[in-house]
Amino acid sequence: MTDDAIQLRSVTRRYGSSGSSVTALDQVSLGFPKGTFTAVMGPSGSGKSTLLQCAAGLDRPTSGSVTVGGTELTELSDTRLTLLRRKRIGFVFQAFNLLPSLTAEQNVALPLRLAGRRPPKARVREALEQVGLGERARRRPTEMSGGQQQRVALARALITRPEVVFGDEPTGALDSQTSRDVLVLLRGMVDREGQTIIMVTHDPVAASYADRVVLLVDGRVNGELIGAGAEDIAARMTKLEAVPC
Ligand code: ADP
Repeated sequence: MTDDAIQLRSVTRRYGSSGSSVTALDQVSLGFPKGTFTAVMGPSGSGKSTLLQCAAGLDRPTSGSVTVGGTELTELSDTRLTLLRRKRIGFVFQAFNLLPSLTAEQNVALPLRLAGRRPPKARVREALEQVGLGERARRRPTEMSGGQQQRVALARALITRPEVVFGDEPTGALDSQTSRDVLVLLRGMVDREGQTIIMVTHDPVAASYADRVVLLVDGRVNGELIGAGAEDIAARMTKLEAVPC
């Protein structure tokens, strides 16, 4: 038995045909324990997005295994994979991806509607209150600041009570104070609700909110930092980026 929310075993992802193929991930084995916050960092092109896409079931590895709560993703049909993603995985992106014509509460309710469920009003309100936006349920994205929009996106990611929330540079479009607010919120979800979060970021300050930083270089795990501060993370990144290709 494992207590990992997500487990990757020898995951390889190649793009292109054999003559000109790129190995974006090379035999990556990683566990993401339940109730922990992991940041994934590495130089540009090191495989961060590919790792996130494979771990979240948005892309299929060329070989290897990915399990979410014990379910082997690589054995699922596309339809079943989509259903599993909707039910068990939440996403937060740099660009928020809210629908502009919908209010905050309608945006938050969307994943339940997509799953064919009637969204209970109380639950939608609760999700908005969790991110400090209980008073702004009827606003549309254009009437909100970037930080508020990202908090709506977070409430939307949490409405299905997912086993894991994936963030792809979730603070990339925010100023430093607003980023901090969103990161404190993410940290609180891990500490108070036992949520599991996996976040790709370039920002050592953002990564310092995580329990663990996984470092990727050339599609391989190069090491990890546990409970590191922003300065140590930045120093390690500078070293990694200085490695000649
Ligand atoms: P990162 O997110 O760290 O910048 P990526 O996962 O996007 O890295 O990319 C890893 C490697 O895989 C890079 O060399 C990139 O060019 C290549 N790659 C990523 N996606 C594709 C694709 N769809 N087709 C071909 N090559 C790709």
